[in-house]
Amino acid sequence: MYNKNNVFFKIINKEISASIVYEDETVIAFNDINPKSKVHILVVTKGLYTDFSDFVQNASVKEIQKFNQSLNNVIQQLKLDKTGYRLISNMGTDAKQEVFHFHVHILGGEPLNAM
Ligand code: 5GP
Repeated sequence: MYNKNNVFFKIINKEISASIVYEDETVIAFNDINPKSKVHILVVTKGLYTDFSDFVQNASVKEIQKFNQSLNNVIQQLKLDKTGYRLISNMGTDAKQEVFHFHVHILGGEPLNAM
């Protein structure tokens, strides 16, 4: 069950500031406040979904396609496709999801440790 009382909802609505690197009608993307790599961007849906499972089960095919295109726009804008990047989406307790508004982490800008 989506709860609007979360920090990403407030960033989308500009109630809390963030270092925004990209925005369109589908997503907002900003620097993670606690970066785990040289480049660490959060790409956040403007649709109200708690996590990946909620998103793929309840968003329209068009919305899912638009999200992926917007995610790729961020990657291209930052030229991360030249050197590589990692995408992560935490869901639920085992993944230690902190913010229950669907988002994807983009990590890169330097060689990352192997998983
Ligand atoms: P997750 O929910 O995927 O486990 O992690 C949420 C991420 O959001 C964390 O990497 C955390 O550093 C980041 N984060 C939490 N609060 C804020 C905030 O107020 N601003 C920004 N820019 N990032 C945040």
